[in-house]
Amino acid sequence: PYTIAEPCVDVLDKACIEECPVDCIYEGGRMLYIQPDECVDCGACEPVCPVEAIFYEDDVPEQWSAYVSANVDFFDEL
Ligand code: SF4
Repeated sequence: PYTIAEPCVDVLDKACIEECPVDCIYEGGRMLYIQPDECVDCGACEPVCPVEAIFYEDDVPEQWSAYVSANVDFFDEL
């Protein structure tokens, strides 16, 4: 799946939510999260993010690698 990283924090632009065909991007506190089991890897959200916070999981920059599990954990804790 795709994942949302640190640039989203306190931004929550939500352009990605408009683009997602399966509505798997959710608001949670200070950022948005992608539900990894629902994401169909279409990539539509990535280019519309104004702060470039969205990455395919294998392409998340090293310094934000913890956000991959943060996106998973967010939904596990619901
Ligand atoms: Fe939604 Fe596609 Fe982005 Fe996954 S890659 S979160 S399905 S828009």
